[in-house]
Amino acid sequence: MKTDGTKYLNFTGWYDRPDDLQPAVDGDLTCDIAVIGGGMGGMATALRLAERGKDDVVLLEAEFCGFGSASRNGGQIAGAPGGDLRMLALTDPGKLKVMVKLAENAGEYMEDLMKTHEIECDYEANGLVWGAVSPMMMLRVRTQAAILRACGGQGTLGTSEELGLPAGFVGGMRENVGGALNPGKLARGVRRAVLDSTVKVYEQSPVTDVRQTGGIVELTTPRGTVRANKVVLATNAYSGEWDITPKNLSVPMYVVEAETEPIAPERLAELDWTSRSGIITQHQLMTHYRLTARNTIVCGVRRVERGLSYPLPERVPSPSLIKDMAKDLSDRFPTLSDVSIAQAWGGWIGFTSDWLSVAGQVGDNVYYAMSCNGHGLCQVPYVHKLIADYIVDDQMHEDLAGIWSSAPKYPGTMALVLQEPVIALAWAADRIGDYFSGSKSLARRKLRRRSRRAIS
Ligand SMILES: Cc1cc2nc3c(=O)[nH]c(=O)nc-3n(C[C@H](O)[C@H](O)[C@H](O)COP(=O)(O)OP(=O)(O)OC[C@H]3O[C@@H](n4cnc5c(N)ncnc54)[C@H](O)[C@@H]3O)c2cc1C
Repeated sequence: MKTDGTKYLNFTGWYDRPDDLQPAVDGDLTCDIAVIGGGMGGMATALRLAERGKDDVVLLEAEFCGFGSASRNGGQIAGAPGGDLRMLALTDPGKLKVMVKLAENAGEYMEDLMKTHEIECDYEANGLVWGAVSPMMMLRVRTQAAILRACGGQGTLGTSEELGLPAGFVGGMRENVGGALNPGKLARGVRRAVLDSTVKVYEQSPVTDVRQTGGIVELTTPRGTVRANKVVLATNAYSGEWDITPKNLSVPMYVVEAETEPIAPERLAELDWTSRSGIITQHQLMTHYRLTARNTIVCGVRRVERGLSYPLPERVPSPSLIKDMAKDLSDRFPTLSDVSIAQAWGGWIGFTSDWLSVAGQVGDNVYYAMSCNGHGLCQVPYVHKLIADYIVDDQMHEDLAGIWSSAPKYPGTMALVLQEPVIALAWAADRIGDYFSGSKSLARRKLRRRSRRAIS
């Protein structure tokens, strides 16, 4: 595909910035519960607290609600944990079982959230497919599917024809819960629900310090201090900005999305992507592909970049990565190689030390959660909703208990592993795998077979 005219965005391609920015904190104020961060996690916490009758809740957001990965992501609602299940089953089989149930519940929670607040965000509940681009990768998918089943999860294995996938895929496993949506519209809808609730929302209010002092928590912002009885940290990749954040809670990574120009419906129909299910490959560094309601294809991830210091910089994707993604799109969808990549953007996500969701407490009045690793769109708000329930009921849902850390301490494993040379090696291993598995020629051969069948 072509990248000559690609626009590099420093926000998202899904929607525009809101034009009703809420005021910043101006002067000192007190509240019962303060939530820091207006992403899906922070908004879900605040909304749930309000729904549960807490009427003195303040939400503090550095820019505007939905500014972070909430509205920059690929929009794929997953109903199963992300990552390499073989590795996770080896390192912590007990927690993986918890995560399988949690991920399914998170997918269902997200569907309920959209219904309850009547959020129109182009949601298609057509499952997410763990796709294989070669027979070798299909073996990996089968192993992952067996692990998922052994942990109580469900997925449907099939060939690309059975799962309604384009010729560039050999087959895969479709998760039973989830689908694809426009995350910009989702974030805007959840922001609207929060603004309509009793929550007091302060945007343009970056918290520069969080301190526990004499039974309350003091939050510093540029133009005033907020004193709260309880605080929920919901800043995801940005969480490492304060001393109070548990060490190694997350490693920030920059992840990108690229979107094609609109494609004529008859050309999209030729792809035989009849299920319209979003697809994530089983590479070391997965690539995902999905169709949108505006007749484009959005492709994401493929390579990640480590954030090295806080505050995390605002940035745009590197043109060389977008070129690499354009080439990959041509390999996966050979009939679309003349199409252009219209726009590209990126955002920061946090990787936890065990690759799975974590949550916990610092002292008795600061709560945090980190549920991402690329599958946070529904896991993050679900886990934060459970934290809100825990604050109200003083009782933990079993999904929250299963990821709860007794002490806010995490090993530095992921920080050690996710270094640029290791990431570059993983990317190279994926490309070598693609080359030797012949995934590119497989796609073209399959396409020729499909068109011969169509003619006869
Ligand atoms: C490019 C990309 C593609 C992705 N694709 C998918 C996908 O398809 N499916 C999926 O499940 N997940 C995906 N994810 C991950 C998913 O989007 C995230 O896990 C999820 O949105 C995180 O939500 P959050 O609320 O924790 O974080 P965020 O949405 O990042 O929210 C954090 C908020 O905190 C605010 N903040 C930061 N510092 C401060 C401060 N000091 N004071 C006040 N506020 C502050 C930020 O401005 C931000 O709004 C993707 C992520 C990216 C970036």
